[in-house]
Amino acid sequence: MFCFQCQEAAKGTGCTHKGVCGKDDKTANRMDLLLFVTKGIATVATLLHNAGIESSMKVNHFTTDALFSTITNANFDIESITGRIIKGLKLRNELIAIAKKRDIVLPIIDELIWNGEENSFEGKSQTVGVLREANEDIRSLKELIIYGLKGMAAYVEHAANLGYEEPELYRFIQRALADTLRKDLTAEQLTALVLETGSFGVKAMALLDKANTCSYGNPEITHVNIGVRNNPAILISGHDLKDMEELLAQTEGTGVDVYTHSEMLPANYYPAFKKYKHFVGNYGNAWWKQREEFENFNGPILFTTNCIVPPLEGASYRDRVYTTNSTGFPGWKHIPAREDGKTKDFSEIIAHAKHCAAPNEIEHGEIIGGFAHNQVLALAAYNAGRGHVESWLRENNWNGMVDTIPFPETRSYVKAVLQYQERYEALYGNNY
Ligand code: SF4
Repeated sequence: MFCFQCQEAAKGTGCTHKGVCGKDDKTANRMDLLLFVTKGIATVATLLHNAGIESSMKVNHFTTDALFSTITNANFDIESITGRIIKGLKLRNELIAIAKKRDIVLPIIDELIWNGEENSFEGKSQTVGVLREANEDIRSLKELIIYGLKGMAAYVEHAANLGYEEPELYRFIQRALADTLRKDLTAEQLTALVLETGSFGVKAMALLDKANTCSYGNPEITHVNIGVRNNPAILISGHDLKDMEELLAQTEGTGVDVYTHSEMLPANYYPAFKKYKHFVGNYGNAWWKQREEFENFNGPILFTTNCIVPPLEGASYRDRVYTTNSTGFPGWKHIPAREDGKTKDFSEIIAHAKHCAAPNEIEHGEIIGGFAHNQVLALAAYNAGRGHVESWLRENNWNGMVDTIPFPETRSYVKAVLQYQERYEALYGNNY
């Protein structure tokens, strides 16, 4: 294996025997093979698009899921990666058949020719990794594009789960993936593609922001409880708000509480989730403290996306962790995707929770969060006068930070209101 896709990379250069994240070499190689197959799919899909034939949603969703499942700390399960490779080969061959029917000339590349049986996956996977590209500069640029696409795929998938999709983003992901196979692109051309990947990444973020806020309201400044109640409970992590919504709806009235962990903390700030009385608050701290905190939670834990830390040998929570979406871990239960038009079925994890003890309290009190861009913008617009902030935003690229608001009086006003709000809430709680 050779993997250098994250800041955890061994010695700052790359993991070669086992990932610092816990990923073993066979799974890392199998992920390389999944990307190899996905690049083949992207190549044919792009050629079909150029000939006026749009990709089906099956192809689009496969591409984003394949990329998402290979990001750091998302999936450690070689079986689930292998399942994706088998599915991907079938999809690739279907696309090749469509292209041949239309007399579209396909490039002669290994990604489109190799049609290995499952027993050849392991051998093949050792030959298709990052180091296949010998030129270090070209390799780095191509991998930078791929890591940008992986992040983009995560945003796009979350937005799609809420019914928000933009074909332009799928097309770009596929074109850029296909371009990473080209031998004729210079470092300058690849640098341009890196920058283009960044600009599409911003579009993907905007799409997800729209999906989240249109579905659940704009995040509000919120006091989040970090203590516990005396009921059995489910701990939910990851970023998928659709899962959050459906889990809250299905646990209502069951006697099972819901807490967020780490990545899911922002769910506490969305107005739509505040109506659920059994949504207690947040439990624990950052993702990397999960080994200790999951021991204390007592109830089942649901990973909707990254970040999984492999449990230690003998961890008591091993049999009460569930994965869903792109995540996976050997031996953990995986909650299947929702069928078209239906909600995801969380009945198994809810039934599991009912037999568990309530969480042990590891903290008490509240934390404050939810300083989202809309809250700041609303205050700024009120102070600056009708239309001024909007027209300024149209002309400038504001980064969303209060300190960079260009109007001194408005900047001070926004800061002052936020500080007063914090003080009032400290004095009188949420009922002032
Ligand atoms: S994802 Fe895992 S294997 Fe890859 S560089 Fe990061 S720590 Fe190493």
